[in-house]
Order: sequence, then structure tokens, then C-alpha cells
Amino acid sequence: MVKICSACNSTWAGGQFCEDCGAELHDPYGDAGKIPKGMWRYIRLQYGARRGMLVRVMAFLLAPVVFGLLAREAVISSSPILGLVGAVVAGVATWALVYWLAGKAVRIWVLRKGQLNKRRAARALLKRALR
Ligand SMILES: [Zn+2]
Repeated sequence: MVKICSACNSTWAGGQFCEDCGAELHDPYGDAGKIPKGMWRYIRLQYGARRGMLVRVMAFLLAPVVFGLLAREAVISSSPILGLVGAVVAGVATWALVYWLAGKAVRIWVLRKGQLNKRRAARALLKRALR
């Protein structure tokens, strides 16, 4: 279970006291009011990045499956060597496509949410300048 230090915002995989500063650790799901908002954004960012990484690992596992299924068909076909080359190309292409899509998805859905909204920031700066 992940625990968070409300004094220095470091995270720990359990325990009662922070090993960095000695303050009491809190369960982020138990008393959400004690966790600062920026910390929640950071946690969501970390989980999103991890999800992208898991999809990329699945791409590594999917490529041999695609190769195996196509190679099985290629061996009994009229031109087995050409079929095997095609199976290798299809396996690599599958891996590359899923890998690229996972990176794109993390960039669009995870990292962009963690970034500063430029339009909102410009509006806030303009408001402050006009005051
Ligand atoms: Zn601490």
C-alpha cells in the first residue's frame, strides 16, 4: 500500500513514519483531505505513465504471437520462405505499431493533463496586469 508523507510529499511502500523527515505517513485513500492537490496530480501522472509502459510490455508479448500464428500458416503454404519473411515483418510491425500508439496515448492523455493550460495561464496573467 502506498503511503504519503504530508510534510515532505515523499511516497513510501508502507510503514508508519517518513524515513526522510520522520513525520507520520498517511494513507492517500483514507484521509484525502490531508494530501495536497499537486500531489494527487503527480500520482495520477505516475499511474498514467505506468499504464503506457504496461501496454508497451504487452506489445513485446504480442509480436511473437503474431509471428507464430502467421509462421504456422506460412510453413504449409506454397511458398514457405516468403511466408516466414512476411510473418517476421508482420510481427515487427505489430510491435512497432503498439509501441508507437502507447507512446502517443501517454503524450495525449497523460502528460498533457499534467501540463500548464496556456490559455488559462495567459488569461490569469492578463487579469493580473489589468488590475
Ligand atoms: Zn517526510
